[in-house]
Amino acid sequence: MLHSMTTKTFQGSCKCGVVKFEADVDLSRGTAKCNCTSCWKRRWWSVKVKPEQFRPKSGDDALTQKGGFCRHCGVTPYAEVEAAEWNDGAYVALNVAVLDDLDPCELMAAPIQLCDGRNDDWFHRPEFTAHL
Ligand SMILES: [Zn+2]
Ligand SMILES: [Zn+2]
Repeated sequence: MLHSMTTKTFQGSCKCGVVKFEADVDLSRGTAKCNCTSCWKRRWWSVKVKPEQFRPKSGDDALTQKGGFCRHCGVTPYAEVEAAEWNDGAYVALNVAVLDDLDPCELMAAPIQLCDGRNDDWFHRPEFTAHL
């Protein structure tokens, strides 16, 4: 079952509004932050949804690459990850900051998974996390 009691539909957009999507997100399953160079340099804070819970609406042709940023405003709205790259199948990582109707209190209440990507150890919490 994709829709749990805590799944809500959110509207997402980049800063300039060219890229838009809709997604069914269950925040109670947690968001993720990682200390690897790629996540750190983008200040990437994400929440995962299944591909069928993600509906791009416009502007995916404005992205620099798959999982890239909007060429007009520089914001990375989401990244689609192939099944082969991950144990639990394909998913879409959404940038929590682009969910327009997400209440910050709801975001703060969601559990956060902290990943030690810098040491190729994504399933464990890094030694230092306050900066993430
Ligand atoms: Zn944009
Ligand atoms: Zn990372």
